[in-house]
Amino acid sequence: MHEMAIAQGIIDIAVAAAQKEGAQKITKINVVAGELRGIVPLQLTFCFSVLAEQTIASHSYLNLEITPVKGKCKNCDKTFIVKDYQYVCPQCHSQDIQTVGGTELRVRDIEVE
Ligand SMILES: [Zn+2]
Repeated sequence: MHEMAIAQGIIDIAVAAAQKEGAQKITKINVVAGELRGIVPLQLTFCFSVLAEQTIASHSYLNLEITPVKGKCKNCDKTFIVKDYQYVCPQCHSQDIQTVGGTELRVRDIEVE
């Protein structure tokens, strides 16, 4: 279950950022995750709540924003959103596509008290 490792990473980043600001409590964590990360939101939320206990992130709300997969055509340079893993350029129908988005995973920002 890779959600456990991801949740731990999110907490580490958020807690470090909050401590830097001298915050007592984290109320919300906004996370951006690419679709290709294959995160199951419910599992991540569960792992997060377990791991966040005993930290200043306990009771904080984990807001997960899933970003779509993006491809770039190597033939005509068009960038487009890949749906259902169809790596075909909508403009020239080339299948020579480079993945340029959908693998990101980062804490965008946090809200503290
Ligand atoms: Zn193309």
